[in-house]
Amino acid sequence: MSAIVLGKGDALLIVDLQNDFLPGGSLAVPRGDLVVAPINALVALYRERGLPVYASRDWHPLDHCSFSAQGGPWPPHCVADSEGALFSGALQLPDDAIIVSKATTAAEDAYSAFNGTGLARSMLAEGISRLTVCGLATDYCVLNTVLDGIGAGFEVLLALDGTRAVEVAPGDGDRAIARMLAKGAVPVSLSGGHLIADPKLGARL
Ligand SMILES: [Zn+2]
Repeated sequence: MSAIVLGKGDALLIVDLQNDFLPGGSLAVPRGDLVVAPINALVALYRERGLPVYASRDWHPLDHCSFSAQGGPWPPHCVADSEGALFSGALQLPDDAIIVSKATTAAEDAYSAFNGTGLARSMLAEGISRLTVCGLATDYCVLNTVLDGIGAGFEVLLALDGTRAVEVAPGDGDRAIARMLAKGAVPVSLSGGHLIADPKLGARL
């Protein structure tokens, strides 16, 4: 295990920690609320060091193509400006967090925070080279965000305590983690106020 020294070029990216993806929401990730405390600890760590925090959100129109009424795979969720689209009230999002809205038009869906948002370009313009990714859900939006982030040239740390899976099929979560690690994502956890890279976390899969 080795502690990761955070500094200039680091950013935290919180994926879709929205009410509809949390218990009680229309597309809830089972026990998704367990990620909130670890994510708040990550937010505190990044803010202590003056490093930027990004938060993506699904931000769909009422007739979005991913909704079952339009033939999509999901129940309606995260309709723009609805209660379900709000970030969790328990998330301690800093006032200066950078919000990234995705899949904002009816015809296009986006699991990845990089898809159609200009996020990679704006992060690169800010000198960001390494991301810690956390949020919901491991097997959809986190997976696609991590793969796109690596594809865009970022080093990606995956905060395992800060993500949980939908598991439409059992094992989807572990399979998603294995895919991310195979592409070069580094599994990390927060311990004693430090981010720790632990290859054993990935090796259990
Ligand atoms: Zn969606």
